[in-house]
Amino acid sequence: MASHIVGYPRMGPKRELKFALESFWDKKSSAEDLQKVASDLRASIWKQMADAGIKYIPCNTFSYYDQVLDATAMLGAVPPRYGWSGGEIGFDTYFSMARGNASLPAMEMTKWFDTNYHFIVPELGPDVNFCYASHKAVHEYKEAKALGVDTVPVLVGPVSYLLLSKPAKGVDKSFSLLSLLPKVLAVYKEVVDDLKAAGASWIQFDEPTLVTDLDSHQLQAFTAAYSDLASNLSGLNVLVETYFADIPAEAFKTLTCLGGVTAFGFDLIRGTKTLDLIKGGFPSGKYLFAGVVDGRNIWANDLACSLNTLNALEGIVGKDKLVVSTSCSLLHTAVDLVNETKLDNEIKSWLAFAAQKIVEVNALANAMCGKKDEAFFSSNASALASRKSSPRVTNEGVQKAAAALKGSDHRRATNVSTRLDAQQKKLNLPVLPTTTIGSFPQTVELRRVRREYKANKISEEEYVKSITEEIRKVVVLQEELDIDVMVHGEPERNDMVEYFGEQLSGFAFTVNGWVQSYGSRCVKPPIIYGDVSRPKPMTVFWSSTAQGMTKRPMKGMLTGPVTILNWSFVRNDQPRSETCYQIALAIKDEVEDLEKAAITVIQIDEAALREGLPLRKSEQAHYLDWAVHSFRITNVGVQDTTQIHTHMCYSNFNDIIHSIIDMDADVITIENSRSDEKLLSVFREGVKYGAGIGPGVYDIHSPRIPSTEEMAERINKMLAVLETNILWVNPDCGLKTRKYTEVKPALENMVAATKVIRNHL
Ligand code: GLN
Ligand code: ZN
Repeated sequence: MASHIVGYPRMGPKRELKFALESFWDKKSSAEDLQKVASDLRASIWKQMADAGIKYIPCNTFSYYDQVLDATAMLGAVPPRYGWSGGEIGFDTYFSMARGNASLPAMEMTKWFDTNYHFIVPELGPDVNFCYASHKAVHEYKEAKALGVDTVPVLVGPVSYLLLSKPAKGVDKSFSLLSLLPKVLAVYKEVVDDLKAAGASWIQFDEPTLVTDLDSHQLQAFTAAYSDLASNLSGLNVLVETYFADIPAEAFKTLTCLGGVTAFGFDLIRGTKTLDLIKGGFPSGKYLFAGVVDGRNIWANDLACSLNTLNALEGIVGKDKLVVSTSCSLLHTAVDLVNETKLDNEIKSWLAFAAQKIVEVNALANAMCGKKDEAFFSSNASALASRKSSPRVTNEGVQKAAAALKGSDHRRATNVSTRLDAQQKKLNLPVLPTTTIGSFPQTVELRRVRREYKANKISEEEYVKSITEEIRKVVVLQEELDIDVMVHGEPERNDMVEYFGEQLSGFAFTVNGWVQSYGSRCVKPPIIYGDVSRPKPMTVFWSSTAQGMTKRPMKGMLTGPVTILNWSFVRNDQPRSETCYQIALAIKDEVEDLEKAAITVIQIDEAALREGLPLRKSEQAHYLDWAVHSFRITNVGVQDTTQIHTHMCYSNFNDIIHSIIDMDADVITIENSRSDEKLLSVFREGVKYGAGIGPGVYDIHSPRIPSTEEMAERINKMLAVLETNILWVNPDCGLKTRKYTEVKPALENMVAATKVIRNHL
């Protein structure tokens, strides 16, 4: 039986590509240097898969920035502002689109489905001159071939490409992007011919949009596209790969009837119902690529369970037509467990990163054709058993407490307007209170102190002294600026999830478990492996220290349970909701300890609440229900006079506004400045909102310092829509990535703008 990998991480086991890219961008190394690092990485990945025995090895899943941008380059769909004048697209044009240049901003970036990977959104319209402008796919195919590896070139499918794009600036919003299909297909045909001529016998089109909610018109586009491509595809084996969720029944029907297509790939980790669809009927003579090894997580596969699934599928499609695969590209998992020097052997035995998943796929394929590696299977079984029974995983007290939460409602006893009155009596804030989101600039010196403390190079005493001094600076600055509700600046935190994960039980941390987020940016999610609890207070010391420095209210600053969950690798042996409830209980303990320590304003950040929203509408209500419930659990126990804030980092929440209201926070601060109107339109349309709200008045993602007038105008716009007594004034998000030279004048102007308006009320 054959084996296949949908795609592989590009960064390298130690983020080699990241460093090569950044050095090239900084002009510290040449294009040739960068190309050399890239081709070495590709070669080692192909070799690794070939050595492991993988039959269908992907190529063109490498990218210097993003695979969707690669498709844009392939199609020559460069927005005219980048001044590309034809010919093969080189680094200049490519990286200008990706990152902007001295005079032009980058193209828009957005999340790749429900992953933390971001792609560059194609900007299309009726005037785009599609042409074959990047031969990357065929170059990679030939490059692998020269190394003796016959690969399967992978392309973003033409229909998904269009469905993921947006109308370019100046193009009517109602423009049908799918109307561009014939033009796009003309280029795909050239690419297919090129690959065929180079000797390819397989080709893979990634069409993950097939798992989303599509209408019949959109589904029809798939049928049209592949029948148009069919004659060029003839003589090739063609795999259409889907992933990230169950495929809807209609889409399954469309997919399995596509002309010219000989193989279909499914995510059987997230697509548990897909199995039933396959059992209900699969076209005879076609290949089934069964994604049984999870590309989205870091857990070792349950090989015995996968074998059961594969056996059932073999009965349907036949031995020679079943291929063992990953659930999606391994881009979304960490690269290689070999480089984890700090994890203990027990936890390590429970894990599989991309390199290990390749071995798992191959072992399953071998087992299916009678060459079962008994030793490998039995060590997998014992690792799984040890994970199941380990006292490090199970904490009965926590499980009971979390189970007791399900099905019950948790709400503060008093309604929000009564609470706000009680809080105002205590806090005595001016109208349009000013505040910031939490972090202040993180200087080189500050990072050094944290690093040296972690490495035991400076004593606890020295560390506390340095951090306390930093907090004092931030407090003094805020008093000088005359900010009403203070923050301590978060100098003790390097990351808003890691900081809490390190202090909670049930979390483990990797040293090289990086996952690409966008371009050269990677994140290193913590691993939640066990029941979560809080052994002792996590933030109380710093918050009380800070409160001791000022008479103004000092916000306690916490990361909420949903955000901790969504930015971690989450255990797969219980529902996500259960893990979320456990984290909520731990944060609840912290909230209550802060309240006891006389912290009267507590902010619980839920920056990532929206990110966890399931792809399919039918599953969203359930998610929002437990996510919002988890948030409420954290603060259900506080007094009316304790003011609960939350913060969110996105403005497109019109569709989830009712869930946000249902969180029942006293004050919410949200990103707004990059998309003013969108947010306010919700309220203009009459959504009733009685809690405090602080739509960011300036964009912290840019070094630009907004003027007093500009921010005053923003505030006035908001006042036209929102009640004066609920409006707060604050930046968009935390200030940690900015410099003091930017932050000081920007906040000065923000406070000045607020005062101008207060004087006119
Ligand atoms: N309190 C955090 C900070 O200010 C919030 C960051 C975020 O929302 N991403 O840094
Ligand atoms: Zn934010």
